[in-house]
Amino acid sequence: MRNLLPAILSTMSLNLLVSSCHAAFTTKGSSIASRPFSVRPLSASPQRIGIVGGGMAGLSCAYHLLRKTSQEGNPVQVTILDEDEVGRKGASSVAGGLLHPFSPRGKLVHLGLEGLKSTNTLIKAALKHEPSLLLRPHLYRAAQTPTHVENLKLTSENFPEFATWLSTEELKSQVGEGDWLGGIKLENGCQVIHVPTYLKGLWKECQELSKQTVEWVPQSISKSDWDGCLDRFDAVVLAAGSGLWTAENSALGMELPVELVRGQSVEMRMDPSLSHPNEAVLCGKYIVPRPGEDKLLIGATHEYKEIPWNKEEVTTDLRDRSEGLAPVVWDKGVVEGVTCGIRVQSRRGPKGRMPIVGLWEDRKASHPYVWLFTGLSSRGLIYHGLFGDILSDAILKGDDQALLNSYSETAWWK
Ligand SMILES: Cc1cc2nc3c(=O)[nH]c(=O)nc-3n(C[C@H](O)[C@H](O)[C@H](O)COP(=O)(O)OP(=O)(O)OC[C@H]3O[C@@H](n4cnc5c(N)ncnc54)[C@H](O)[C@@H]3O)c2cc1C
Repeated sequence: MRNLLPAILSTMSLNLLVSSCHAAFTTKGSSIASRPFSVRPLSASPQRIGIVGGGMAGLSCAYHLLRKTSQEGNPVQVTILDEDEVGRKGASSVAGGLLHPFSPRGKLVHLGLEGLKSTNTLIKAALKHEPSLLLRPHLYRAAQTPTHVENLKLTSENFPEFATWLSTEELKSQVGEGDWLGGIKLENGCQVIHVPTYLKGLWKECQELSKQTVEWVPQSISKSDWDGCLDRFDAVVLAAGSGLWTAENSALGMELPVELVRGQSVEMRMDPSLSHPNEAVLCGKYIVPRPGEDKLLIGATHEYKEIPWNKEEVTTDLRDRSEGLAPVVWDKGVVEGVTCGIRVQSRRGPKGRMPIVGLWEDRKASHPYVWLFTGLSSRGLIYHGLFGDILSDAILKGDDQALLNSYSETAWWK
């Protein structure tokens, strides 16, 4: 039995978990001397916006801010402060890249179709710059129990434009050997992307839209940097994922309804002379193709303990839970490496796990105008486009209320 941390972890525990994901969250930031903020009113039309964190959340927000204001001929100035280069750190850099709007039971998630449409708009923009981001224009969801069969058949009946039921034989002919009772093929916007390459494409699109008003500043922001570093912005967006809970940022006192969950995956290499379908298959765990014909990723663990599992423990856990999905890969593949990232998982509510987005009124940071965009849980791809869009409207209006009026569900965490 795993020793699970309480559902809502204390800030101290969150810090320990974050700092223990290999070296992924060590900071290397500059130290800007603290100085007090000048007090100013909320800006109704902010011109200089600082975004801390350039993962899916931060880049989506930047893209929407720049798209909207450049259409009006007056792009805002956006500065992304990130501790590394685009696509190199955070949960986004290790995500499986599976995009679809269905829950594990095959139900449509809240705002799933709106999210799918919005994310596909961003993907289309990124594809102009990075065509290799698209790994597969479809994915497969396998049924391994009679209940899965029932649920997934219902998904294909309710959403025939996205999901097609496949018998065991049909699935086998498209995906290869596996221990399943059929499954669905998801397409028409449901797809598999290489997230780091996608983020690079989205960043290039931001640069194109902005006409020189966007910059990426490689800097790790910690509590000691906040005041001096963020004072120059009219509005600040905190989108640093689990980086908001590192020891350096503990003074922010982020007491939000989230837990941090470590996810480790194994990178597999197949013998190129061996024919294998190399498709994305999902059933709890997933197998996804990576760039290059002979590479696959199998993920991901759900770890709540402070000490990360070692390579052997990760491999054993994933093998136990996914061997039926990809017996040939486990039989013939070679584990080349392990990736690690931390999801900021929001508490499950009546509408599922919704992101945390909106004005941080209870803030401990001294900037007067701080927005939050985090808690994307395992639904980063389906939600980052839509909620970046909604958030950018609120930022440009300088009005949290407009956001709450249109999407009252975004108030769930307040
Ligand atoms: C193993 C794994 C697999 C996943 N697979 C999928 C999937 O297939 N589909 C899906 O939809 N979702 C998936 N997810 C979830 C998805 O990855 C997240 O929801 C999403 O990436 C969160 O994006 P984010 O921008 O909020 O945070 P992050 O991606 O963590 O980005 C945070 C950014 O902030 C930067 N940063 C951190 N601290 C600081 C600091 N102090 N100063 C400056 N910058 C800082 C980091 O460098 C990073 O660029 C997966 C998650 C994990 C862990």
